[in-house]
Amino acid sequence: MEVIDERLKQIIKKSFTNAEDSEVSTTSLKASLICPIGKSRLATPCQGEHCTHVQCMDVVTVLGLIIHCPTAKCPLCDKPVKTTTIYIDALFKQIPTAAPEAVTDVTFSMDGSWSYTGKEKNTGGKSVGKSDSN
Ligand SMILES: [Zn+2]
Repeated sequence: MEVIDERLKQIIKKSFTNAEDSEVSTTSLKASLICPIGKSRLATPCQGEHCTHVQCMDVVTVLGLIIHCPTAKCPLCDKPVKTTTIYIDALFKQIPTAAPEAVTDVTFSMDGSWSYTGKEKNTGGKSVGKSDSN
């Protein structure tokens, strides 16, 4: 399985460009660090070759899905996913590791950089994200 670098960046860029064209103002793109299929935190984020969304799924969950159903489709865009055409995205891959465990959502900017907003919620003593000072 390939780890690729530029794919997600291109999807992000395209999403912003399309938004400009359609006059729908998009200043940020959100993605969840929770796998939309398995509902657990992403360990190895992946996408199918036909996917054009920024949201990734966990590779183990997707592989499980395909094993049970060889004609499985991406639950997000309904495009076919196959074991041979799943890509692990290098950009998204770093995020679940780099972001604190309590962070569940990240926001992408047009250049592919990402950020998260810390929640004020106490999640077992770990302080997360921005403090309330300016
Ligand atoms: Zn998809």
